[in-house]
Amino acid sequence: MEDFDPIALRHQLHRFPELSHQEHRTTRVITETLEAFGARIVECGLTTGVVADIGHGEPIVALRADIDGLPVEENASHALRSENAGVMHACGHDLHMAALLSAAWRFAQDATLPGTIRLLFQPAEETGNGSAELIDAGVLDGVSAVIGFHNNPNYAPGHIALGRAMMAGCVRFAVELHATGSHGAYPHKGTSPIEPLAAMVTQLQTVVSRSVGATDPAVLSVTEIHGGDVWNVIPTHAGFSGTVRTFSEQVESTIEQRFRTIVTSIARAFGITAHIEWERLARPLRNDPALLAIAEKSVPQYATLDPLYPSMAGEDFAEYGAKAPLLFAFVGSNGTPGAADWHSPDFIGDDATVATAADFYTVTATALITQMV
Ligand SMILES: [Zn+2]
Ligand SMILES: [Zn+2]
Repeated sequence: MEDFDPIALRHQLHRFPELSHQEHRTTRVITETLEAFGARIVECGLTTGVVADIGHGEPIVALRADIDGLPVEENASHALRSENAGVMHACGHDLHMAALLSAAWRFAQDATLPGTIRLLFQPAEETGNGSAELIDAGVLDGVSAVIGFHNNPNYAPGHIALGRAMMAGCVRFAVELHATGSHGAYPHKGTSPIEPLAAMVTQLQTVVSRSVGATDPAVLSVTEIHGGDVWNVIPTHAGFSGTVRTFSEQVESTIEQRFRTIVTSIARAFGITAHIEWERLARPLRNDPALLAIAEKSVPQYATLDPLYPSMAGEDFAEYGAKAPLLFAFVGSNGTPGAADWHSPDFIGDDATVATAADFYTVTATALITQMV
């Protein structure tokens, strides 16, 4: 392959986004591009997503990009716009793929670097389980470090932000309430799930304000409630669901205990039963201190280092921390005041993100491997 234009590829990927676990075309484009570079595809049984190696032997440093889009209809006025109706790269994963392919191209040109660069094109980040698939496929075994990034529209292109705590741990909760129900005119002849639900939603807002230290960031949001469908019947069921975000397992555990106490106590007070689901979708994403020091030192070679504003959003990259030390950065992708954030139909990622992020991958991985051998 003579030359590689990551921006043209980024535009193509942006025009044809695919949902989590349906990234078949995207997988084909990435695979063909990697094969043209001479990278070795690692057969690991994925239905979508690609793993490939460049170089040989140890150490193995993994570079990760996520590849899925979202069920969002892109703003019709965008010059570069999705052609798949109702699907959009609203999280900017097209930038991530183009940057990792650009880094792969550079590593493929450089036969002098010892060790192996393992390229992880991970499916299904938005549904929170793609990283677990790669771990289960065994491609993280023997890896010395995993490097990744997320574009961030709150920073300008050419800017990078790094720190210890990058992105929050994410929990999904759901509560189902079971009562006997009754005629709307005779509430005393049964039990109702409606008033306890209202009390729970209100009291749960005291968990963060009364039980978590003000210097520990935490969010508890009830985002959905349901119950009843007739105006003169007290229903037998009602429920609600939502999310909790924290930066430490300890704070998450405090919130879970208080959550369970409030829900079960209110249910008991009203004579109904409550079923609680508490599902951790991502653990907090924290950078390894040694990798962070290496990255912070090398950023000024190619970008401006900005102060970090951690994100309360979750990121399944954190799961790789069970296998190897992690390094994750925010790479500026817009920076105009009021720029739309991730998952918005108005989200716009700047092409210039690709070069800075490719530099982040190549400079950091090279510095890391050079220190290891
Ligand atoms: Zn996203
Ligand atoms: Zn994302």
